[in-house]
Amino acid sequence: MKKNIFQCEKCAGEKYKSKFASVPVNVANRTLVVNRVAVKECLNCHNLHPTSAGEAKINRCLGSFALLLSDNFPKL
Ligand SMILES: [Zn+2]
Repeated sequence: MKKNIFQCEKCAGEKYKSKFASVPVNVANRTLVVNRVAVKECLNCHNLHPTSAGEAKINRCLGSFALLLSDNFPKL
């Protein structure tokens, strides 16, 4: 079995806490905040790292957001 080793991108810390947090995502020079994303928070510098489930949620949100802005979205 492959061990999943966490290492912080900023401080290279290896200790983290799993939690749900609001994550800001930059889209077309604006910031979209995705709520309740599964993340690993570095205990040293408090940098947030979305888990694979968290990344999937962000991608789903961005997909819905893009659809909402597109002309193909069904009109009422
Ligand atoms: Zn860190």
